[in-house]
Amino acid sequence: MVVYMTRGWSAAFHKSPTCEALQSGQKQVVRRGGDAAEIESANIQTALGSGRFPCLVCLPSEVQ
Ligand SMILES: [Zn+2]
Repeated sequence: MVVYMTRGWSAAFHKSPTCEALQSGQKQVVRRGGDAAEIESANIQTALGSGRFPCLVCLPSEVQ
């Protein structure tokens, strides 16, 4: 399974790059005058292995 995450500001990964939580996070960064982080894809095992956690909005079934 491939998941999507941003560089830097968030430790969560998402099922889709269009996830509502991901997009709202990006908007918050921009609103504070920052640049929205680039979205990158990775295998879910790689994401978990790097200390990321599943988004509660788009991946609730992955959360134990
Ligand atoms: Zn999400």
